[in-house]
Amino acid sequence: MTDFTYAVDAEGVATITWDVPGKSMNVMSLEGFDALEALIDRGLGDAEVKGIVITSAKKDFAGGMDLNVVARMKEAAGDAPAQGLFDGLMRIHHLLRKIERAGMDPKTLKGGKPVAAALPGTAVGIGLEIPLACHRIFAADNPKAKIGLPEILVGIFPGSGGTTRLVRKLGPIAAAPVLLEGKLSNPKAAKAMGLIDEVAEDPVAAAKAWILQAKEADLVKPWDQKGFKIPGGAPYTPGGFMNFLGANAMVMGRTMGVYPAARALLSAVYEGALVPFDVAIRIEARWFTQVLMNPSSGAMIRSLFLNKEALEKGAVRPKGVPDQTVTKLGVLGAGMMGAGIAYVSARAGIEVVLIDSAQEAAERGKAHSAGLMDKAISRRKATEAQKEELLARITPTTDYAALKGCDLIVEAVFEDPKVKAEVTAKTEAAIGADCIFATNTSTLPISELAKAFSRPGDFIGIHFFSPVDRMMLVEIIKGAETGDRAVAKALDFVRQIRKTPIVVNDARFFYANRCIIPYINEGIRMVAEGIAPPLIENAAKLVGMPLGPLQLVDETSIDLGVKIAKATKAAMGAGYPDGAVDEVLFWMADQGRMGRKAKAGFYAYDDAGKREGLWDGLSARFAEAEAQPDLHEVQHRLLFVQVLEAVRALETGVLTDIREGDVGAILGWGFAPWSGGPFSWLDILGAGKAVEICRGLEAAHGPRFAAPKLLVEMAEKGESFYGRFAPEAKAA
Ligand code: NAD
Repeated sequence: MTDFTYAVDAEGVATITWDVPGKSMNVMSLEGFDALEALIDRGLGDAEVKGIVITSAKKDFAGGMDLNVVARMKEAAGDAPAQGLFDGLMRIHHLLRKIERAGMDPKTLKGGKPVAAALPGTAVGIGLEIPLACHRIFAADNPKAKIGLPEILVGIFPGSGGTTRLVRKLGPIAAAPVLLEGKLSNPKAAKAMGLIDEVAEDPVAAAKAWILQAKEADLVKPWDQKGFKIPGGAPYTPGGFMNFLGANAMVMGRTMGVYPAARALLSAVYEGALVPFDVAIRIEARWFTQVLMNPSSGAMIRSLFLNKEALEKGAVRPKGVPDQTVTKLGVLGAGMMGAGIAYVSARAGIEVVLIDSAQEAAERGKAHSAGLMDKAISRRKATEAQKEELLARITPTTDYAALKGCDLIVEAVFEDPKVKAEVTAKTEAAIGADCIFATNTSTLPISELAKAFSRPGDFIGIHFFSPVDRMMLVEIIKGAETGDRAVAKALDFVRQIRKTPIVVNDARFFYANRCIIPYINEGIRMVAEGIAPPLIENAAKLVGMPLGPLQLVDETSIDLGVKIAKATKAAMGAGYPDGAVDEVLFWMADQGRMGRKAKAGFYAYDDAGKREGLWDGLSARFAEAEAQPDLHEVQHRLLFVQVLEAVRALETGVLTDIREGDVGAILGWGFAPWSGGPFSWLDILGAGKAVEICRGLEAAHGPRFAAPKLLVEMAEKGESFYGRFAPEAKAA
């Protein structure tokens, strides 16, 4: 069995068909490259063959490169992995260049055979880099197909000629969204932007017809012709100068310089634009090698691609529990969260009964879905018919009898144990004995809330993040008595609504909030210490956090912070460690600066609610110290308060899988994605170095930075988290 087959038709057109056995999507392996090259050689070498079509027997063309390719290239080179990678990449370039030159004389540019790509559906990554080396790209008129180069989203960049070819084909400005944002387009949009050449009913037939009439001049790529100029201009031209300057500023502004792939991509584009094509691809290969050798890219691929997908496919689902797909969902409470949960569920085709204490409130909750669909329609992401269908699935009511027949309930009423107990009892009287009951509480222990339900084995936490339609993580929390069927139900539900689940055990703030609250608190504590607020905010962003801690607390609101602080203090008593934080937080609340919703918080806002800059009243009350700390010191404090909490969550059994700890951190609260997550970052640093940093921070700032026992033990034994806890999930 081979990944590619070969056939020549009566008119002398050879078709190479990609069809990886046993997989629903083609992915490229090392053997795949060899097989493709052999067939290209065969077609080019056979005098009877007039041209070659490369297509796929599956509904899509290809989903990209098998990530083991990189690992195998590194391994094969022994103690020179970078050289192994570079040589491996150059072999791929050689093959693609062979397709592009197609046997023509490099001087006269004559004698080549036409090679066309025919894409039945999705073509991403190497699945588009191969077509880009062909002479013409035909795609089926399949609106579901995605065409593009999404590599940057997992911490690498298109390194099999995609970068060099696309910049020469479209120019740096038009190529920027494809390369720098990983933007995917459907075939029509891809044609409109020049990514592909034609959209056809039958792309193979269209490709064959084109081959039979193609002239020699049609086969010569613009960049192989004399006098070629990059569209929009090379760097040292008036137009090009502006483009490159702008692109550089834009990338640095967006990434704060923390993503090695974005910087390397820009360098490859800039340096490549100054030299002929064959030199440019060597430059691309060198920068790509550098990115692949950086531990950040391996960690990002592992968390954002491999482990995210593994969790979505049920890596932690209890074995042996039959399918628990949800058909009818009851949502209790039609407020901000309930309305969002109803929307994402109805969008996934699930019938929803949306309950609130007043009919108007329930209707308002349903109207949230109408609003989101209107937005989607205005962006052409949905149709009126889809909106009507979706709305027809949501029944807003105050009548608990409507919950009859539900197989899952998600409760999202006020965060008050009494109110929750009351609606739980009312619901239990209306539902069948098979229905699973979930609560969306953010702070109340699941095991306590389960007491209001007569079947604690069927009671679970399903914790969404706000805004529900945009946040991709769902935290599933097992109470002391939660059974396997409830866990499977929650996981199957999260799969249906296409989000990523993690399963954790029941403890204060579960996992995500447990780690993010100390981050916010550390930022506020620094204000009390007299550290300049811009230093705090920029230090966070320069280390890859999406929002500084002060902006984050403005977004989530100061009053919520005060509420959590009071509840935590009440629960912890004398051991409560955050008095210094409260001094700032409570003062802000006293000033009425409740955050963004009040258009006044740590930041100042204009009348329309637009953030203007840090509020100057802050330094009037908390004077900035004369001597300011070093940037790295601030960054270490902000990151270590989070990662140490993640380690403690693992140590105490709240987290049972470090993959969930990493994926959950990036998707749940945006923990520095370049690092691959808290555990990946500690592995990059090494446990020994991490313990050393903790000791310094503990001496300067107190016991919250004390290295957890687990970390100290790992430092002593020279262990890593992935080596010890998930050896099968090592970095790619
Ligand atoms: P909200 O105040 O916006 O909505 C609560 C809704 O519950 C209101 O519409 C209210 O009328 C309704 N309600 C109250 N008592 C009721 C009763 N007895 N019967 C029926 N309906 C009743 O609150 P929210 O922000 O949507 O939060 C809901 C839950 O989700 C809370 O447990 C909260 O901790 C949790 N949560 C909130 C967030 C967040 O960011 N807001 C995030 C995760 C979890």
